Amino acid sequence: MSHDAIVVGAGVAGLTAADRLVSAGRDVIVLEARERVGGRTLTVDVPGVPGLRVDSGGQWVGPSQHALLAELKRFGLNTIDQSGGGEDMVSIGGRLSRYTGSTPKLGLLTVVDVGIALQRFEKLTASVDLDHPWATPDADVLDGQTFESWILRHCRTKNGREFFRICCEAVFATEAANLSLLHALFYSHSGGGLEHLISTEGGAQHARVDGGMQQVAEHLAAGLGDRVRLEEPVTTIAVEGSGVRVTTERGTHEAARVIVAIPPTLAGRLRFEPVMPSTRDALTQRMPQGSVIKCQAVYDRPFWRDAGLSGEAVGDTAPVKVIFDGTPPDDGSPGVLTAFIEAADAIGLSAASPEERQAEVLEVLAGYFGDDARRPIAFVERDWSTEPWTRGCYGAHLPPGAWTQVGAALREPVGPIHWAGTETAERWCGYIDGAITSGERAADEVDAVLPQSATTSDEMR
Ligand SMILES: Cc1cc2nc3c(=O)[nH]c(=O)nc-3n(C[C@H](O)[C@H](O)[C@H](O)COP(=O)(O)OP(=O)(O)OC[C@H]3O[C@@H](n4cnc5c(N)ncnc54)[C@H](O)[C@@H]3O)c2cc1C
Repeated sequence: MSHDAIVVGAGVAGLTAADRLVSAGRDVIVLEARERVGGRTLTVDVPGVPGLRVDSGGQWVGPSQHALLAELKRFGLNTIDQSGGGEDMVSIGGRLSRYTGSTPKLGLLTVVDVGIALQRFEKLTASVDLDHPWATPDADVLDGQTFESWILRHCRTKNGREFFRICCEAVFATEAANLSLLHALFYSHSGGGLEHLISTEGGAQHARVDGGMQQVAEHLAAGLGDRVRLEEPVTTIAVEGSGVRVTTERGTHEAARVIVAIPPTLAGRLRFEPVMPSTRDALTQRMPQGSVIKCQAVYDRPFWRDAGLSGEAVGDTAPVKVIFDGTPPDDGSPGVLTAFIEAADAIGLSAASPEERQAEVLEVLAGYFGDDARRPIAFVERDWSTEPWTRGCYGAHLPPGAWTQVGAALREPVGPIHWAGTETAERWCGYIDGAITSGERAADEVDAVLPQSATTSDEMR
């Protein structure tokens, strides 16, 4: 049987695309490699702590993420504000201090330095053409340098430079030396500016979803029913006549169109017949994923609140540079500290044993919150780089030259093959909101080229 469309990947992007096509009266199936839906969103039980579930993947939603907020509303999911009061902590250059508000206490010179550099960065950010980053004024110049070279040129103080590097790792999960400046600008603009991306209140880390973010994918999948086929990794996409034949480890499926909704580096590992045009292949060769190990240390209660602390900390102490309070909303027991090992630290510690990683994380937590942090009742971690169907996160990044030389191939369909996934989003690229809008865009592309569906014709009569 030939379908109207096949969607590869049951992450939020693929499920959204399928949901939209089904609403348009299309016959769709979704082929998912894993035994679950949700991709980079994953809510897990904490062993030994009955009833406690934590997000090991994407978890926050911000107030300007309208597509995600609409889905949360549609599925009746509530949010919990991340900002629960208390002082945040910062430790850069060996100086530990507490602060409230959005500007970490870094010393006057550093604060001025960071303030001026941030203003310059945000101004440049606003010049990026989100729909066509390669057409941004001076795109060649911006894409011909790294974010690190920009930091070195525009920050006068050592701690100011360090601050930007930490922001880069927290947002891109890679070092500033690996990023094209144009990509750093595009991505920041795509989420409303760098300051917005690193902020809690009003920013990208504004709120969590009560019960976990994976519920969005689970609700979408429930609506799609047996159209979603789990444990069917796609291996080959062959263009045949005007349609496609998609081969999985279990069999073959045919459709008029296919939407590939997986990270670009994984799309580049599929076999295409005929082979992809060289621009598209060059692009997927140049879009590596970042590296993150997300850790949650669980305590019998959020003890740091006794000392007036929020549980949020940022610093240059490896291997954990950013920490948030992940305590569930009922505000008593248990308490959770969410710690991110990112970029080179994540690559380096990926080969260590879980016990070694836990010891290193707890050492950093103890530096901020005291010895109680050394005694969690549970510890949960997930190294996304070792997940065969993700190979790193939070998302992909582009090195110098890629946007201007081959970036136009990111969203451009190749015959009946269309591209979705958060990496293809113009707004909130790399985030769940971007995954949703990318799925909607790809579904609309497909719907527009398919013959009018029976449902649509009925409606028009
Ligand atoms: C630790 C972590 C923290 C994050 N924090 C946040 C956050 O707080 N807020 C936020 O907005 N975003 C966050 N993100 C990013 C967010 O989770 C992603 O942007 C989003 O989930 C991506 O959705 P997607 O559908 O584009 O891709 P994915 O979720 O990667 O979905 C792709 C799907 O395709 C499947 N697949 C892969 N290869 C194949 C194949 N060959 N055949 C069939 N199926 C295949 C995969 O199994 C997966 O289910 C975070 C991500 C991680 C990992």
